Amino acid sequence: MFIEKDPSGARKVRSTGQILGTADKLDAIYERIFTAVMEHRLIPGTRLVEEKLAGVFKVNRTRIREVLARLAYEGIVATIPHRGAFVASPSVEEARHVFQARRILEPALIRSLAARGDKKDLKRLHAHVARERAARESGDKRAVIRLSGEFHLLIAEMVASPPLIKLMRELASITCLIILLYDSPNVPACPNHEHTDIIMAMERGEIDAASAIMLGHLDHIEATLDLSLPENTDVDLDAIFG
Ligand SMILES: [Zn+2]
Repeated sequence: MFIEKDPSGARKVRSTGQILGTADKLDAIYERIFTAVMEHRLIPGTRLVEEKLAGVFKVNRTRIREVLARLAYEGIVATIPHRGAFVASPSVEEARHVFQARRILEPALIRSLAARGDKKDLKRLHAHVARERAARESGDKRAVIRLSGEFHLLIAEMVASPPLIKLMRELASITCLIILLYDSPNVPACPNHEHTDIIMAMERGEIDAASAIMLGHLDHIEATLDLSLPENTDVDLDAIFG
């Protein structure tokens, strides 16, 4: 459904009929594959055979290709020419490099922010953590992973250095994928209380402590990841989605 503005400025609603139905169907397939990855029913390196998925979801291969393209754009799926689509699989080495960069960057970001001692910053951080808690309580794991990453981005944005924001954005999205692929189901991406501990140390003006808690927090996230998953190739797509 599209909402358009007509020349008089009034809003009108236009139904797109069949097109909408197709989009809904694609969204549903996307959600099911995404959820299967999130729940570790599809693991890194799993080959996503177009023909097989088309059969399982009862749509043609063009539709499956559209869904896989969307997942590839988000970095969840990797497409290899002449071989097909696979669940993306950042290597253990890549994951470790990402955490190494974050350990160097983020304690320094917190230090800059805490030194500024702006009450408005603290208010924004508290508001963000409240949203994380709400997502956790409602069991919305996808929102929890996304909001956890956004907490770290928010800190970079508040420090407001464009090159650091860009770097943090890249590191946070790769981490989101790493967590998505390697996290044990039901283990929280970022323990909520650790975000709160960082804010509270900042409130007390304890700059060193805030920075140290951030460092410990990143160590903690990395330690909860299971980076020993096998490079799987063949799974029974019928059993997972049928
Ligand atoms: Zn965190």
